Amino acid sequence: MSKKNWVTGFARIGEQRELKKVLEKYWKGETSFDEVVEVSNMLKVRHWKYQKDAGVDAISINDFSLYDQTLDMIEILGLTPDRFKDIEDKTARYFAMARGDKDHTAMEMTKWFNTNYHYIVPELRSGMKFNIDISKIISEFEAAKKEGITPKINIIGPLTFLGNAKRIDSNELDALGLFNEVMPAYIALFKELSKLDEQVIVQVDEPILVTDKAVELSLLVKEAYTKLAEVAENIDIYVVTYFDHAKEAVAQLIQTPIKGIGLDFVYGSENCDVLDQIAQSGKKLIAGIVDGRNIWISDIEKKVDFLNEIAKTVAKEQIIVSTSCSLLHVPYTLKYEEKLDAQIKSWLAYGVEKLDELNIITKLFFEGAEALNSDEALKFAQNREANASRKSSSMIFDEAVQERMKTIDELKKQRIEYEERINVQHEKFNYPPLATTTIGSFPQTPEVRAVRRDFKNGTIDEATYIEKMKEFIKECVEFQESIDLDVLVHGEFERNDMVEYFGEQLKGVAFSQNGWVQSYGSRCVKPPIIYGDVSRPEPMTVFWSTFAQSLTDRPMKGMLTGPVTILNWSFVRDDQPRSETCYQIALAIRDEVDDLQKAGIKMIQVDEAAFKEGYPLRRVNRPAYEKFALESFWICTNVAEIDTQIHTHMCYSDFNDIIDTIEAMDADVISIETARSGNILLKVFKEHGYKKEVGPGVYDIHSPRVPTVEEIEKQIHSLLEVLPARQLWINPDCGLKTRRWEEVKPSLENMVIATKKVREEV
Ligand code: GLN
Ligand code: ZN
Repeated sequence: MSKKNWVTGFARIGEQRELKKVLEKYWKGETSFDEVVEVSNMLKVRHWKYQKDAGVDAISINDFSLYDQTLDMIEILGLTPDRFKDIEDKTARYFAMARGDKDHTAMEMTKWFNTNYHYIVPELRSGMKFNIDISKIISEFEAAKKEGITPKINIIGPLTFLGNAKRIDSNELDALGLFNEVMPAYIALFKELSKLDEQVIVQVDEPILVTDKAVELSLLVKEAYTKLAEVAENIDIYVVTYFDHAKEAVAQLIQTPIKGIGLDFVYGSENCDVLDQIAQSGKKLIAGIVDGRNIWISDIEKKVDFLNEIAKTVAKEQIIVSTSCSLLHVPYTLKYEEKLDAQIKSWLAYGVEKLDELNIITKLFFEGAEALNSDEALKFAQNREANASRKSSSMIFDEAVQERMKTIDELKKQRIEYEERINVQHEKFNYPPLATTTIGSFPQTPEVRAVRRDFKNGTIDEATYIEKMKEFIKECVEFQESIDLDVLVHGEFERNDMVEYFGEQLKGVAFSQNGWVQSYGSRCVKPPIIYGDVSRPEPMTVFWSTFAQSLTDRPMKGMLTGPVTILNWSFVRDDQPRSETCYQIALAIRDEVDDLQKAGIKMIQVDEAAFKEGYPLRRVNRPAYEKFALESFWICTNVAEIDTQIHTHMCYSDFNDIIDTIEAMDADVISIETARSGNILLKVFKEHGYKKEVGPGVYDIHSPRVPTVEEIEKQIHSLLEVLPARQLWINPDCGLKTRRWEEVKPSLENMVIATKKVREEV
């Protein structure tokens, strides 16, 4: 049967986070692995059924994973790192690789392209022996067949697998140099897959082909897919790309005997340029048009128009209608959203709702409106209505914000000269060289969480809540004074999350009840939904910061989350450019900065933890991102008076290629996460002649270990080899919220002692 539509992949954590719950129970030793398997099997069947019921022709297997599909791929190919080979039990080894155990540190984890999903980084070396094990695929294949589905088999392609891997036997940034060694493993895998059925469909995911690497990869693309297609006649290979265009690779792929190519037309509109090549090749075009990354409803009519546009070049019979990428990146279903405003809800489509859209679009495109049954026709009508209301709703368009946005260009500039302001600031604050501080949060103890929860549930009233929070702050401030930190913070006890806290207070931002998306392993996040014009009805942090300041004579840093980070960690409206939304958030934060300084908070930290994360996959698109990201940071910080000191913080990132942008952000002080990478990161600052003050984290907060005085002293000395004391701040490398007081107290105490010792020496 020829396929008309296709779902790249489905989420697996479960609509009630069933997989998360059973995994965590299992890890705690509270249940057996049998229960994990049972829940997994139930979820797989449920997800297949959702797709089948929605009329999806091409449904995946092996998109399910107990932890991560790259880790599964390592197991399937048998490319287990040597350091885990002493663990005989397959399950124990799998989870040791994912999470570490008492004898093994976990494998590294990193972001899957430009998403918030993290995959396990394969550790490869030359001379590794592979060992194909497709038992997982076989069991899923059989289970799917039992459900009346002839599935496609999802695997991660060799180029993406190698491009995302690291070499443990060389300094190369990826493992593409092992192409000739790993291809035989893939060939052996395909041989095994060919035995599964008379005809086997394999979806090979190659998102690496949408990155800048695509150019250097073109020869390998052709070689890889020529070889794989030769393995067995009965395998139909579909190479699927997503997150951007894959134009370079298409030119190569059409020269290989694969059956079809998947392209993302939502985030890679340039893919339209290669339609004629695909048309001539006769290959199938898997046209990714239903957004797999965001939660807004499709405009079904427009999508059908777009497909008709494609059909002017590519024959209809060649086209398969698809999601833009796996539905892993969106929540499951709106079914459990009972509290969301009905209007906003009508604008949303999570995974299951996207299946319906795909079905309706497919029918309209191939057969016309007559083909819709009454339920589908109703959904189509509702879709039209919802799209119309989204274009005019007063919930989305806020005149005051629009008015303000007209003058935004005037605000896109840096503050007055750094040299001038830093002198004024030194005079005002009089902090010593190697000033000590923290990144903001202090331990979120069960007690702190309970108070927040009780207030949310209404178990305690506002006055009680405020009293209790004030106590936490007071204790925190007293502790910081007692160990003699130079610049204090209030501790962020009132926040459960650095984005959610602000999102909840901003107009134009909504929160779902059940909009969970897998971040890694059993971890899920519930991103805010930015649906309309953003503004700040009232001050968000001034109350807590001024209370904290009233307790001490030392400078108290105000703590804000920056606009770029709020943007990058949310589902962002798609009816205006992301830059516009970012500027609106920046205006809201700007008002907060101003209110803080007016209230006497003269050191203000605007965290941009996710600044680097939002970088586009293709270099050509970077300047546009950097422009609005920078401008947004300026908009919210250039309201600061000359004697207001602006801090920022960035979590671990590769700063190498963005150092000029960091300089241009123009923060007076930046704290960065460097504890785990020695001085390499800091050297980048030095080499680029970075002039402003820097707080390179002197110890790793991700570990419960308490660093000794000597260790930190040594660390500070090595910092001093790179930058002068006057330019350096001393702080941990990120917020302390995940740590316990038992660890935080001695660690910070040691940090201050070490700093004082060094100060005396220099
Ligand atoms: N101020 C925040 C905190 O300390 C920063 C967190 C972060 O960088 N992720 O928790
Ligand atoms: Zn951080």
